[in-house]
Amino acid sequence: MVEATKILVVLQTDTILLPEIQQHQISLHLRREDLTHPMLSGNKFRKLKYNVQEAKKGNCNTLLTFGGAYSNHIPATAYAASANGMSSIGIIRGEELADRWKDNPTLVSAAKMGMEFHFVSREEYRLRDNKDYQANLLSGHQAAYLIPEGGTNTLGVKGCEEILTAEDGCYDIICCAAGTGGTLAGLSNSAREHQNILGFPALKGDFLKDDIGKYTTEQNWTLITAYHFGGYGRVTKELVAFINSFRERTKIPLDPVYTGKMMYGIIDMVKQGKFKNGTKILAIHTGGLQGIEGMNGILRKKNLPLLSI
Ligand SMILES: *Cc1c(COP(=O)(O)O)cnc(C)c1O
Repeated sequence: MVEATKILVVLQTDTILLPEIQQHQISLHLRREDLTHPMLSGNKFRKLKYNVQEAKKGNCNTLLTFGGAYSNHIPATAYAASANGMSSIGIIRGEELADRWKDNPTLVSAAKMGMEFHFVSREEYRLRDNKDYQANLLSGHQAAYLIPEGGTNTLGVKGCEEILTAEDGCYDIICCAAGTGGTLAGLSNSAREHQNILGFPALKGDFLKDDIGKYTTEQNWTLITAYHFGGYGRVTKELVAFINSFRERTKIPLDPVYTGKMMYGIIDMVKQGKFKNGTKILAIHTGGLQGIEGMNGILRKKNLPLLSI
């Protein structure tokens, strides 16, 4: 995929200089994976890289995947497919979107890159990891390569293992947002012995632990479950205000679904003295900025303050 799309991963690490962090003698750094590509930003590039290679090896001409209406993985897969001369099919959660998807910026951008959608009921969507269901889907699309929701499979995790570089041994703690947990598993596999990974789930529920355990056998990770802000895709005024203020103070945009919640959590934990003096933290900016527009659409309908852009 790298060759076909000429994508080079941007390796930029910003130091977050905010008084509330420095007061606690913590150093906080942000790996800017969001800068890699606007559509393939952050971890979605990492997760698709080896999957696209595998699809090509198998002479597949279509990528077939699953996602919700605001999933960053959907336009990322559409982009990866089109950049590699393949078609893409998105199995999208929610039948009601069949008539309304044009109001959704995430789906519109995926469609522009050629993705064909199948809108399915929530009930059917729940079968997305079921082998018989998948076999049935693939029987209608002979040369399709199936990528699970969020791009998390063994090859997706392998890609995420490449997020940490040899120089990153200088950090004590690595933080990331968690959806399916594939990124966290990759970081866990490639972290050094002295490092701990903190994952900030963007959704409620504790099924994540088992899912992550499928892809890492390390014990170096912990889920911090206090910062989901009501669940997946939910935001509060307080979270929106935090993201806007963080952007104003650091010039770094965060997304409302994942990285905003993670950063809120990290700074809150710093303020609460959860980290020892002198701790060096590396947080991963996993991207997701394409979702800001869609979230503002929702906030506007509810008459709530918007995310600045
Ligand atoms: C998909 C996504 C995540 C979640 O990654 P998982 O590997 O599914 O845990 C985190 N941040 C952003 C911006 C994402 O788009």
